[in-house]
Amino acid sequence: MDPFADTLRRLREAFGSGRTRPAEFRAAQLKGLGRFLRDNKQLLQEALLQDLHKSAFEAEVSEIRISQIEIDLALRNLRAWMKDEKVPKNLATQLDSAFIRKEPFGLVLIIAPWNYPVNLTLVPLVGALAAGNCVVLKPSEVSRSTEKILAEVLPRYLDQSCFAVVLGGPQETGQLLEHKFDYIFFTGNPRVGRIVMAAAAKHLTPVTLELGGKNPCYVDDDCDPQTVANRVAWFRYFNSGQTCVAPDYVLCSPDTQERLLPALQRAITRFYGEDPRSSPSLGRIISEKHFRRLRGLLGCGRVVIGGQSDESDRYIAPTVLVDVQETEPVMQEEIFGPILPIVNVRSLDEAIDFINRREKPLALYAFSNSNQVVKRVLAQTSSGGFCGNDGFMHMTLTSLPFGGVAHFTDGETEVLLCVIGRAQVCPTCSQLAAAGLTAVSHATVQVPVGWAA
Ligand code: NAD
Repeated sequence: MDPFADTLRRLREAFGSGRTRPAEFRAAQLKGLGRFLRDNKQLLQEALLQDLHKSAFEAEVSEIRISQIEIDLALRNLRAWMKDEKVPKNLATQLDSAFIRKEPFGLVLIIAPWNYPVNLTLVPLVGALAAGNCVVLKPSEVSRSTEKILAEVLPRYLDQSCFAVVLGGPQETGQLLEHKFDYIFFTGNPRVGRIVMAAAAKHLTPVTLELGGKNPCYVDDDCDPQTVANRVAWFRYFNSGQTCVAPDYVLCSPDTQERLLPALQRAITRFYGEDPRSSPSLGRIISEKHFRRLRGLLGCGRVVIGGQSDESDRYIAPTVLVDVQETEPVMQEEIFGPILPIVNVRSLDEAIDFINRREKPLALYAFSNSNQVVKRVLAQTSSGGFCGNDGFMHMTLTSLPFGGVAHFTDGETEVLLCVIGRAQVCPTCSQLAAAGLTAVSHATVQVPVGWAA
């Protein structure tokens, strides 16, 4: 028996009726999503704490707030996005109307991962609803507590004739993928991305694949090691390293490595205290399977910072590895955990060559006091996103697109060049204040040094 057939038939009928098309209907769904976030904020925070030991701060800025920003953006722009777009005409069509009309695809499937289980489920959903589609949402079965809320509570806020949550792991998702959808939005690892793309190809269904990989981080000799260390550590260990755009490894000279190591130690201590295990700000590894995979990676190169682990708690300390060989597993697979290998290169040319010999990264980082150096890395490499002199700050701009090369951006790279010495006002603090979370002090959240309260 096919467990999905009835649901999919119902959604197709709803789409066929045209009810998802009017702006009012789309706006009502988006507002429902916003209410879901507001009404269930505490429930979501508790679920994220259970799934990933995510602090209230991280839950707020990287899950709830970011989803709300996307909803607000869609609500503000909905009518403009829906408008026909007039195009230039030729002599023969001067008296005619020529325009591009944006249409919903129809029935959209969203398959989500576990690492930001609210954000990476709801943000694609915002786009699909704003465009007037019916949606089947498949949250990750790995982040179980969040999955439960998405399955049991979220549907109450949306029109259930046009929207459904389905549950399951690889087997059920495989069954689901046998059906024809009009668009599939998948976020996950490249191995599963291939499975999704092959299933979509059978029906000629267009797909967006948001995948992972290894994100290089070049650190130039001409830099302030403490500023770089603060920023690299903040973005590497956020969500315990389980972030698709986290800096995956550092490329630098042996001299810069020597200056960077004590600075990284200071940054880690400042963010997580002397005993990171007891820090409420440090996440845990999502599952035993991933914990064991990461513990195996601790055997690569030489541990110079951290290295402790405890399976009972799925805890891995913020770790830095040196003397790492390119052929070791830690340099072959996406790390997706709180481990930062440093690979030595002798020059900028060698670093660029190292980056270009590998798969095009989802995100690429370059740190230098010299704008010339940062711009050379940008000019001579290719990546989905690029941030000069910071971690994944480019992700905070809704004005930049997001995605890896070839799967979404079609040859574009989203770029943010940060000023290394800028007087920074921590944007997350103002968001915290707006969210009534001012009770969370800087002592218990990781805020990069130099960011004013
Ligand atoms: P995953 O690919 O294991 O799982 C993602 C989804 O696919 C889940 O809903 C899961 O149920 C389903 N799935 C798993 N195996 C399947 C199979 N054999 N057939 C059909 N469906 C299957 O990914 P994950 O472990 O949840 O997430 C981690 C990966 O996602 C990392 O590689 C990370 O870089 C990537 N990621 C990318 C982005 C991005 O925006 N580019 C964002 C977050 C995570």
